[in-house]
Amino acid sequence: MGKVLIIGAGGVGRVVAFKCAQHPEVFEEIMLASRTKSKCDQIAEAIGGNRIKTARVDADNVPELVALIKDFQPDLVLHVALPYQDLTIMDACLETGVNYMDTANYEPKDVAKFEYKWQWAYHDRFKEAGIMALLGCGFDPGVTSIFTKHAVKHHFDEIHMLDIVDCNGGDHGKAFATNFNPEINIREVTQKGKYWKDGQWVETEPHEIGKMLTYPGIGPKKSYLIYHEELESLVKNFPSLKQARFWMTFGDEYLTHLRVIQNIGMAGIQPVKFKGMDIVPLEFLKAVLPDPGDLGENYTGETSIGCRIRGVKGGQEKTYYVWNNCKHEDAYAETGTQGVSYTTGVPAMIGARMIMTGQWKGQGVFNVEEFNPDPFMERLQLDGLPWHEKTGIDLEL
Ligand code: NDP
Repeated sequence: MGKVLIIGAGGVGRVVAFKCAQHPEVFEEIMLASRTKSKCDQIAEAIGGNRIKTARVDADNVPELVALIKDFQPDLVLHVALPYQDLTIMDACLETGVNYMDTANYEPKDVAKFEYKWQWAYHDRFKEAGIMALLGCGFDPGVTSIFTKHAVKHHFDEIHMLDIVDCNGGDHGKAFATNFNPEINIREVTQKGKYWKDGQWVETEPHEIGKMLTYPGIGPKKSYLIYHEELESLVKNFPSLKQARFWMTFGDEYLTHLRVIQNIGMAGIQPVKFKGMDIVPLEFLKAVLPDPGDLGENYTGETSIGCRIRGVKGGQEKTYYVWNNCKHEDAYAETGTQGVSYTTGVPAMIGARMIMTGQWKGQGVFNVEEFNPDPFMERLQLDGLPWHEKTGIDLEL
């Protein structure tokens, strides 16, 4: 049905390329472009069959992006490089009149603050150009927002409390590693916590609030309240929510390493002088940490991510839990990457499918919960991320 240009050849880009290649009826032609072309070539070779074209592109550079888009003429640009490139790629899409999607919202490189405001500001320009931008279509954000929309559509008259629960019950055998880009991951988890309560945001110290939560197939795990980007769009799009929170599991070992990294200044994002050169400590740390894309080989265990929701149906209070579990070993066997890249890349491919097949269409900038969740939920079952649901249970929250 068309052509897709994937930008970013990291762990997520690899999964997206593998999954798009499985569906030639939708993705007739696929190009994978990234800063380092050899990484694209490795992925293309692993997929085989000349399915993937490759190119080099610096996604911080709008003219370079425009030239590539004009040359390949895709129907959609699927951005899975880093959040710093969201706006340059959106600019290039506007200039060329091509649809856009991503999995993480924009944050400026010199301020660790991710917000939708920069990308929502493109709405009128995308609308005038007659194209769409789909924001945050990974797992979280992405599937978690689609799960919430599914609950609103099929299980509740009104939702009041939302708790997104994200557990990685896996073991990669390393003393310390992050499951996706270390720079983005450490910026995210070291910032203050924040949740929505009665019409306003409540801020907490990092990891101040923790609780044991039980995850299906995994068991009890200490989970910490952190801020996560989908909360911003969910409270806007579901105004009946009185409370919305996000919980993520962290092991003691991980938190100890994180504390040390912060205490010795290695999480800093301002440049420091070293032997006459400007070095950003967190960027240097990324260079010495394991590459998340290489964690897959000995990764055991599984992830479990879902939404626990409380609301009313037919005048009665109701509880509801919808979740997916993904085994790192299965993800690795299929795509050569671990479960966190897999759970991000599969929904990105499905989101692209929704746009390419016209099942989701619009003009402007959208979050995933603004569309019909049904065809997406159906594809999750078919494309490797089956979900389960339960009603009338103890949510522990
Ligand atoms: P990686 O660091 O593994 O990969 C990023 C890729 O982008 C690398 O190949 C890198 O190139 C490339 N890249 C970086 N800068 C540029 C640039 N200026 N121009 C072109 N290419 C560039 O990250 P992940 O694959 O783990 O994550 C990808 C994205 O997915 C991130 O935005 C992350 O936040 C998001 N994500 C979303 C999740 C969700 O559930 N919604 C969960 C996990 C991740 P090079 O190899 O040369 O460095």
